[in-house]
Amino acid sequence: MNILVTGGAGYIGSHAARQLIEAGHEVVVVDNLYRGHRAAVHPKATFIQASLTQKDVLEKAMREHQIEGVMHFAALAYVGESVTQPLDYYQNNTHGSCCLLEAMDVAGVKRLVFSSTCATYGEPELMPIVETMHQQPINPYGWSKLMVERVLMDYAAANPSFAFTALRYFNVAGSAADGSIGEDHEPETHLIPVILNTILGKRESITVFGTDYPTPDGTCIRDYIHVEDLVAAHITAMQSQSDGAQRFYNLGIGRGYSVKEIIEAVERVTGKTVNVEYGDRRPGDPPQLYANSDKIQNELGWSPKYTSIDDIIATAWGWFSNHPDGYND
Ligand code: UDP
Repeated sequence: MNILVTGGAGYIGSHAARQLIEAGHEVVVVDNLYRGHRAAVHPKATFIQASLTQKDVLEKAMREHQIEGVMHFAALAYVGESVTQPLDYYQNNTHGSCCLLEAMDVAGVKRLVFSSTCATYGEPELMPIVETMHQQPINPYGWSKLMVERVLMDYAAANPSFAFTALRYFNVAGSAADGSIGEDHEPETHLIPVILNTILGKRESITVFGTDYPTPDGTCIRDYIHVEDLVAAHITAMQSQSDGAQRFYNLGIGRGYSVKEIIEAVERVTGKTVNVEYGDRRPGDPPQLYANSDKIQNELGWSPKYTSIDDIIATAWGWFSNHPDGYND
């Protein structure tokens, strides 16, 4: 297929472009490089530097490259930042997605896989999370994505030949197995990269945000899924969509790890000791989030290849230890 990948210079988008190209698809990457890296764009992808609000540029790209489907990764994705800069999140994530849909509409592109998030669930009372649970985000990031899910449902209802799949990610981690592309965020706030950067001496310590959560060891629990497994689900979703599909799937491995357990796993994998400090809770963080991913496993036949947190962390370490300065741009 000819696929347009928004955010293809970012962490997940760059892994998606690569897996698509390796599977024989044609890829056009659209990225404004606000947080993406030109060097992360696959050499065989066509690259267009543009924002989602540049609807005419998007539409032209879709027509010229006979785009059949869009994988939409471009977004701001820091929970903490969304609490302090909510408008940036509604502009980029919600308004940006509407612009993308408008361009798709004009260009006649009718297939979309959308990066949604477990943050749309807020603080569910029951774990693991299933797709039918009530969605009540507790931060602007979650709302900015949930609003897009709503927009997609309404747009799909009005356009019966359109089809979309919203994938609700849990915590994405790891890197391409060969360590050639990986995670390079500025600022870096995600747990596993922060711990690895501490080991590399780029930070003095890692602060555990909150030790008084109602969890067995008092720290937050998350479900970490390998980026390549996550991307594989996108490709399966894209290829299996037929007219009128409106699908929502959780994407996690179905097992939660506490912040302390992740620190221990990193120490096991790297053989190094992490300098840990204990601090206050970070606003917007729910105590625990882990997925029930049975729906996508049963309906699309997807399953994660990486089920061990140590294996996931080992791939991240492969990238970080060989690229301590990331893409160095
Ligand atoms: N976390 C932490 N210290 C850090 C970064 C993250 O204790 O320096 C915790 C954070 O509070 C959350 C978990 O690690 O409970 C995962 O956070 P991350 O930012 O990686 O992903 P999120 O779950 O917010 O999408």
